Amino acid sequence: MAQKFICDGMLGKLSRLLRMIGIDTAYSNEGMAILLSARREERIILTRNRQLRGRKDVFFVEATTPEQQLHVLVERYGLWSDVKPFTRCVLCNERLVAVEKAAVKDKVPYFTYEHHDEYARCPGCGRIYWKGSHYKNMLREVEAVLGRGSYEKNT
Ligand SMILES: [Zn+2]
Repeated sequence: MAQKFICDGMLGKLSRLLRMIGIDTAYSNEGMAILLSARREERIILTRNRQLRGRKDVFFVEATTPEQQLHVLVERYGLWSDVKPFTRCVLCNERLVAVEKAAVKDKVPYFTYEHHDEYARCPGCGRIYWKGSHYKNMLREVEAVLGRGSYEKNT
């Protein structure tokens, strides 16, 4: 089963990058309550809090930029095969569900609707996702960070 994570309050950008590539990543800014959530949901805690260093359910993140942090994690946990961009909501970590084009007609800009046929919706917050220019830029960014291959086939 794919490794799951929980980011602490200092690693919000990292949590969004991980979700962007499809990795199940919770987020908590409630201090030590993160230990309980992590145990209950079998998640590895990602933190820059030195007090938590050395625990076996904790990965202490040394890297300072979110892009470096993502790279280190993918290497450390061998996440290559789990990378599936465009499958998870960047905001709330829910799995996206494919929706019919007709169902999003009044929910996306006209230009978008005219040019794209595939849509997905977050069951949590209702946000609509599509593979537009934003998606393509994101994919290039991910490939640059991870420094290998094309992940488009995984979506
Ligand atoms: Zn959402």
